[in-house]
Amino acid sequence: MGSISSHICRACGTRFTARGGGGFFFDLLHCDRCGATRSIGHQELGDVHLGFVKGLPGPYALARAGIDRRIRETYEGKPLTRDEYHAAAEATLDACPCGGRLTYGAPARCPGCRSTPEQWDEDPDGAQIFYD
Ligand SMILES: [Zn+2]
Ligand SMILES: [Zn+2]
Repeated sequence: MGSISSHICRACGTRFTARGGGGFFFDLLHCDRCGATRSIGHQELGDVHLGFVKGLPGPYALARAGIDRRIRETYEGKPLTRDEYHAAAEATLDACPCGGRLTYGAPARCPGCRSTPEQWDEDPDGAQIFYD
């Protein structure tokens, strides 16, 4: 489930929106240094994502159960665990322009002071959007 939420940073007062989660057809990664967001399409990942779907005990998401079943029946490659999938997907990405690495584990950061979500309040006047 993907979302866009509005925040106010308690550390520096900046108001901003942050994207969280991934979607049915893409994943969301952050730079481990500056927190920049990068989405990566499952199509773009090709075999890496097919191997992950094959390694899952059930459908990746109910909305795409049909696609996932077809992948499991037709994909000939090796099934991947979540960790193997994340490592392989991260390896396909170039480094962030700041020099950091884009990873699944890195948190989003405030654009003003690079604080992490523990230091943010929800902006009561801002938009909270959920997609997928
Ligand atoms: Zn960066
Ligand atoms: Zn801040």
